[in-house]
Amino acid sequence: MKSKVKLLIIIIIFLTIFVYIFVKHVEHPTNKKSVSKETSSEQEKKKILQSETASENKTKKGFIIEQINGVTYIDDTLIVNKTYSLPDTYGNGLEKEVLDAFDLMKTDASAIGLNIYIASSFRSYEQQVNLYNKYVLRDGKDAADTYSARPGYSEHQSGLSFDLNSINSSFTNTAEGKWVNDNCYLYGFIIRFPEGKENETGYKYESWHLRFVGKELAKKLYNNGDWLSLEGYFGIDSKYQD
Ligand SMILES: [Zn+2]
Repeated sequence: MKSKVKLLIIIIIFLTIFVYIFVKHVEHPTNKKSVSKETSSEQEKKKILQSETASENKTKKGFIIEQINGVTYIDDTLIVNKTYSLPDTYGNGLEKEVLDAFDLMKTDASAIGLNIYIASSFRSYEQQVNLYNKYVLRDGKDAADTYSARPGYSEHQSGLSFDLNSINSSFTNTAEGKWVNDNCYLYGFIIRFPEGKENETGYKYESWHLRFVGKELAKKLYNNGDWLSLEGYFGIDSKYQD
Protein backbone atom coordinates (compact mmCIF):
# COMPACT_ATOMS: atom_id res chain seq x y z
CA MET A 1 0.00 0.00 0.00
CA LYS A 2 2.76 2.41 0.98
CA SER A 3 4.68 1.77 -2.20
CA LYS A 4 1.55 2.36 -4.29
CA VAL A 5 1.11 5.81 -2.71
CA LYS A 6 4.76 6.58 -3.37
CA LEU A 7 4.37 5.57 -7.01
CA LEU A 8 1.27 7.74 -7.34
CA ILE A 9 3.11 10.75 -5.91
CA ILE A 10 6.01 10.22 -8.29
CA ILE A 11 3.63 10.02 -11.25
CA ILE A 12 1.88 13.23 -10.16
CA ILE A 13 5.23 15.04 -9.86
CA PHE A 14 6.30 13.91 -13.33
CA LEU A 15 2.98 14.95 -14.83
CA THR A 16 3.24 18.39 -13.20
CA ILE A 17 6.76 18.90 -14.59
CA PHE A 18 5.65 17.79 -18.03
CA VAL A 19 2.67 20.17 -18.09
CA TYR A 20 4.90 23.03 -16.84
CA ILE A 21 7.50 22.46 -19.58
CA PHE A 22 4.80 22.19 -22.22
CA VAL A 23 3.13 25.45 -21.16
CA LYS A 24 6.49 27.28 -21.07
CA HIS A 25 7.32 26.06 -24.53
CA VAL A 26 4.04 27.26 -25.96
CA GLU A 27 4.47 30.66 -24.32
CA HIS A 28 7.87 31.19 -25.94
CA PRO A 29 7.94 29.89 -29.48
CA THR A 30 11.40 29.79 -31.01
CA ASN A 31 12.58 33.03 -32.49
CA LYS A 32 11.41 33.36 -36.03
CA LYS A 33 13.57 34.67 -38.81
CA SER A 34 11.29 34.43 -41.70
CA VAL A 35 12.96 35.46 -44.86
CA SER A 36 13.12 32.04 -46.44
CA LYS A 37 10.32 30.13 -48.02
CA GLU A 38 8.59 27.57 -45.90
CA THR A 39 6.17 24.88 -46.79
CA SER A 40 2.57 25.84 -46.40
CA SER A 41 2.01 23.25 -43.67
CA GLU A 42 4.90 24.72 -41.66
CA GLN A 43 3.43 28.17 -42.10
CA GLU A 44 0.01 26.93 -41.05
CA LYS A 45 1.43 25.36 -37.91
CA LYS A 46 3.34 28.53 -37.13
CA LYS A 47 0.26 30.67 -37.64
CA ILE A 48 -1.82 28.51 -35.35
CA LEU A 49 0.88 28.61 -32.68
CA GLN A 50 1.33 32.36 -33.02
CA SER A 51 -2.31 33.22 -33.06
CA GLU A 52 -2.51 31.57 -29.66
CA THR A 53 0.60 33.12 -28.18
CA ALA A 54 1.90 36.31 -29.81
CA SER A 55 0.18 39.64 -29.47
CA GLU A 56 -1.64 40.13 -32.71
CA ASN A 57 -2.83 43.11 -34.70
CA LYS A 58 -3.58 44.01 -38.26
CA THR A 59 -2.24 46.76 -40.53
CA LYS A 60 -4.44 49.20 -42.43
CA LYS A 61 -4.23 46.78 -45.35
CA GLY A 62 -5.13 43.75 -43.27
CA PHE A 63 -1.69 42.17 -42.86
CA ILE A 64 -0.98 40.50 -39.54
CA ILE A 65 1.43 42.32 -37.22
CA GLU A 66 3.24 40.12 -34.74
CA GLN A 67 5.71 41.07 -32.01
CA ILE A 68 8.06 38.23 -31.13
CA ASN A 69 10.81 38.84 -28.57
CA GLY A 70 10.58 42.57 -29.22
CA VAL A 71 10.89 42.17 -33.00
CA THR A 72 8.03 43.12 -35.32
CA TYR A 73 6.98 40.89 -38.19
CA ILE A 74 4.33 41.87 -40.69
CA ASP A 75 3.02 39.02 -42.81
CA ASP A 76 6.16 37.12 -41.68
CA THR A 77 8.52 39.89 -42.83
CA LEU A 78 10.76 41.54 -40.23
CA ILE A 79 10.05 45.27 -40.09
CA VAL A 80 12.30 48.04 -38.83
CA ASN A 81 11.45 51.67 -39.47
CA LYS A 82 10.69 54.83 -37.47
CA THR A 83 7.62 53.18 -35.93
CA TYR A 84 8.99 49.69 -35.30
CA SER A 85 12.33 49.33 -33.52
CA LEU A 86 14.60 46.41 -32.66
CA PRO A 87 15.76 45.46 -29.16
CA ASP A 88 19.21 46.96 -28.50
CA THR A 89 20.77 43.51 -28.19
CA TYR A 90 19.40 42.30 -31.53
CA GLY A 91 21.59 41.25 -34.45
CA ASN A 92 25.10 39.98 -35.01
CA GLY A 93 26.03 40.41 -38.65
CA LEU A 94 24.55 39.91 -42.09
CA GLU A 95 22.35 36.83 -42.37
CA LYS A 96 23.92 34.04 -44.43
CA GLU A 97 20.90 33.92 -46.73
CA VAL A 98 21.42 37.60 -47.50
CA LEU A 99 25.12 37.17 -48.23
CA ASP A 100 24.41 34.21 -50.50
CA ALA A 101 21.82 36.21 -52.45
CA PHE A 102 24.23 39.12 -52.73
CA ASP A 103 27.05 36.88 -53.99
CA LEU A 104 24.79 35.61 -56.74
CA MET A 105 23.79 39.14 -57.72
CA LYS A 106 27.40 40.31 -57.67
CA THR A 107 28.48 37.40 -59.88
CA ASP A 108 25.78 38.17 -62.45
CA ALA A 109 26.67 41.86 -62.41
CA SER A 110 30.37 41.07 -62.92
CA ALA A 111 29.50 38.92 -65.91
CA ILE A 112 28.29 42.05 -67.71
CA GLY A 113 31.18 44.20 -66.53
CA LEU A 114 29.58 45.84 -63.49
CA ASN A 115 31.21 46.12 -60.12
CA ILE A 116 28.90 46.16 -57.10
CA TYR A 117 30.17 45.74 -53.59
CA ILE A 118 28.86 46.04 -50.05
CA ALA A 119 30.29 49.22 -48.56
CA SER A 120 28.40 49.09 -45.25
CA SER A 121 26.43 46.18 -43.87
CA PHE A 122 25.62 45.24 -40.30
CA ARG A 123 25.68 47.94 -37.63
CA SER A 124 25.09 47.13 -34.00
CA TYR A 125 22.94 49.29 -31.75
CA GLU A 126 26.09 50.82 -30.24
CA GLN A 127 27.56 51.63 -33.65
CA GLN A 128 24.31 53.33 -34.61
CA VAL A 129 24.44 55.41 -31.40
CA ASN A 130 27.83 56.77 -32.47
CA LEU A 131 26.83 57.34 -36.09
CA TYR A 132 23.52 59.05 -35.34
CA ASN A 133 25.05 61.29 -32.67
CA LYS A 134 27.76 62.34 -35.10
CA TYR A 135 25.14 63.40 -37.67
CA VAL A 136 23.05 65.23 -35.07
CA LEU A 137 26.10 67.22 -34.00
CA ARG A 138 26.91 68.06 -37.61
CA ASP A 139 23.44 68.79 -39.09
CA GLY A 140 20.99 68.97 -36.18
CA LYS A 141 18.39 66.41 -35.13
CA ASP A 142 15.67 67.26 -37.70
CA ALA A 143 18.05 66.97 -40.64
CA ALA A 144 19.76 63.86 -39.26
CA ASP A 145 16.38 62.14 -38.93
CA THR A 146 15.79 62.42 -42.68
CA TYR A 147 18.81 60.29 -43.61
CA SER A 148 20.07 58.49 -40.50
CA ALA A 149 18.12 56.20 -38.20
CA ARG A 150 18.01 56.64 -34.46
CA PRO A 151 19.61 53.76 -32.53
CA GLY A 152 17.30 50.74 -32.53
CA TYR A 153 15.47 52.00 -35.62
CA SER A 154 18.12 51.19 -38.23
CA GLU A 155 17.57 48.40 -40.69
CA HIS A 156 21.33 47.87 -40.67
CA GLN A 157 20.87 46.31 -37.21
CA SER A 158 18.60 43.64 -38.71
CA GLY A 159 21.32 41.85 -40.67
CA LEU A 160 19.08 42.03 -43.74
CA SER A 161 20.31 45.34 -45.20
CA PHE A 162 23.43 46.88 -46.66
CA ASP A 163 24.66 49.88 -48.62
CA LEU A 164 26.34 49.54 -51.99
CA ASN A 165 29.34 51.23 -53.54
CA SER A 166 29.52 55.01 -52.90
CA ILE A 167 26.68 55.07 -50.30
CA ASN A 168 25.39 58.30 -51.79
CA SER A 169 23.22 59.62 -54.61
CA SER A 170 26.12 59.56 -57.09
CA PHE A 171 25.35 55.81 -57.28
CA THR A 172 21.88 56.35 -58.76
CA ASN A 173 22.87 57.14 -62.32
CA THR A 174 25.88 54.86 -62.62
CA ALA A 175 25.53 51.74 -64.76
CA GLU A 176 25.69 49.76 -61.51
CA GLY A 177 22.98 51.85 -59.85
CA LYS A 178 20.62 51.47 -62.79
CA TRP A 179 21.22 47.73 -63.06
CA VAL A 180 20.66 47.24 -59.33
CA ASN A 181 17.43 49.23 -59.50
CA ASP A 182 16.12 47.04 -62.33
CA ASN A 183 17.42 43.64 -61.23
CA CYS A 184 17.88 43.39 -57.46
CA TYR A 185 14.37 42.00 -56.98
CA LEU A 186 15.37 38.89 -58.95
CA TYR A 187 17.69 38.04 -56.03
CA GLY A 188 15.19 38.91 -53.31
CA PHE A 189 16.30 42.50 -52.65
CA ILE A 190 14.31 45.72 -52.65
CA ILE A 191 15.18 49.39 -52.96
CA ARG A 192 14.11 50.04 -49.40
CA PHE A 193 13.66 53.80 -49.72
CA PRO A 194 12.30 54.35 -53.23
CA GLU A 195 12.16 57.67 -55.03
CA GLY A 196 8.99 59.66 -54.28
CA LYS A 197 8.06 57.52 -51.26
CA GLU A 198 9.68 59.71 -48.60
CA ASN A 199 6.32 60.31 -46.93
CA GLU A 200 5.80 56.59 -46.54
CA THR A 201 9.29 55.39 -45.58
CA GLY A 202 10.30 58.49 -43.62
CA TYR A 203 13.59 58.60 -45.53
CA LYS A 204 14.93 60.27 -48.65
CA TYR A 205 15.46 58.16 -51.75
CA GLU A 206 18.45 55.85 -51.31
CA SER A 207 19.38 53.97 -54.48
CA TRP A 208 22.25 52.28 -52.64
CA HIS A 209 20.42 50.85 -49.61
CA LEU A 210 19.09 47.35 -50.25
CA ARG A 211 16.98 45.17 -48.02
CA PHE A 212 16.47 41.43 -48.40
CA VAL A 213 12.83 40.31 -48.30
CA GLY A 214 12.91 37.19 -50.48
CA LYS A 215 12.06 36.92 -54.17
CA GLU A 216 8.29 36.72 -53.89
CA LEU A 217 7.78 39.96 -51.97
CA ALA A 218 10.63 41.70 -53.82
CA LYS A 219 8.88 41.10 -57.13
CA LYS A 220 5.64 42.61 -55.81
CA LEU A 221 7.46 45.68 -54.51
CA TYR A 222 9.45 46.06 -57.76
CA ASN A 223 6.03 46.54 -59.33
CA ASN A 224 7.29 46.39 -62.92
CA GLY A 225 9.83 49.12 -62.28
CA ASP A 226 7.63 51.49 -60.28
CA TRP A 227 8.96 50.58 -56.84
CA LEU A 228 6.48 50.42 -53.96
CA SER A 229 7.65 51.00 -50.39
CA LEU A 230 7.29 48.31 -47.74
CA GLU A 231 5.20 50.77 -45.75
CA GLY A 232 2.85 51.48 -48.65
CA TYR A 233 2.48 47.82 -49.51
CA PHE A 234 1.76 46.69 -45.96
CA GLY A 235 -0.21 49.77 -44.95
CA ILE A 236 1.98 50.82 -42.03
CA ASP A 237 3.55 54.06 -40.78
CA SER A 238 7.16 55.05 -40.30
CA LYS A 239 7.05 57.84 -37.74
CA TYR A 240 8.91 58.44 -34.52
CA GLN A 241 6.65 58.90 -31.54
CA ASP A 242 8.20 62.26 -30.63
ZN1 LIG B 1 21.76 51.99 -45.47
